[in-house]
Amino acid sequence: MKIIMLGAPGAGKGTQAKRIAEKYSIPHISTGDIFRANIKNGTELGKKAKTYMDQGALVPDALTCDLVMDRIQQEDCKNGFVLDGFPRTIPQAEALDAALKNIGQTMDYAIDVDVPDENIVNRMGGRRACLNCGATYHITFHPTKEEGKCDACGSETVLRDDDKPETVQKRLEVYHAQTQPLIDYYKEQNILKTVDGTRPMDEVFEAIVAILGA
Ligand code: ADP
Ligand code: AMP
Repeated sequence: MKIIMLGAPGAGKGTQAKRIAEKYSIPHISTGDIFRANIKNGTELGKKAKTYMDQGALVPDALTCDLVMDRIQQEDCKNGFVLDGFPRTIPQAEALDAALKNIGQTMDYAIDVDVPDENIVNRMGGRRACLNCGATYHITFHPTKEEGKCDACGSETVLRDDDKPETVQKRLEVYHAQTQPLIDYYKEQNILKTVDGTRPMDEVFEAIVAILGA
């Protein structure tokens, strides 16, 4: 099963992608997590990506596409994968389609987690991320057991630099200009499914399972 998660920043793509990965035993591939891991490890890619991420801009396709194409060809992806945060532009979607076509495959589902802009600012301001293991929390909707400490690994949880209100506004603009057109792109391919992302996390997941099959 090969799945794309679509939706605005903060819509809940990562939250749902992690659950999908666990239930269907497929890898969760988050380009944002890959970039953040590179930043943490001080790699060249990380240094380049950070300059764009801190401004709420997209990392150029040239730095993003090859990374994903390599990842989806690894052994653990042979039964499928869930992409979270990729593609984010039409050229990225075309690169993905072309790479899959080469191996005689196509994507199965593009799930749009639909959340209006007015809910997003609240979501992002309350998001807390563990920079060590990538777990995500929310101060109201999914708090850590101990304040400021990751339930999974015990490291500190932080407000991501790009979740500050001024950057969130910019990211939403970038989303509408560059990523939202993918909704029509996948509608035309007949693989678009939309779920109401304003519902509580468990209900969103139930809606997704109803689409993918139990
Ligand atoms: P994305 O991967 O789309 O950027 P996340 O999955 O990180 O979004 O979710 C953004 C924030 O909103 C997180 O703090 C997460 O805990 C919270 N969240 C996710 N889904 C829901 C939901 N259905 N209701 C309330 N809060 C949610
Ligand atoms: P995310 O963790 O998905 O919210 O991504 C955080 C940031 O990483 C984004 O705001 C972009 O700057 C960058 N990023 C992640 N995925 C992509 C992508 N597919 N294309 C371009 N930039 C990306």
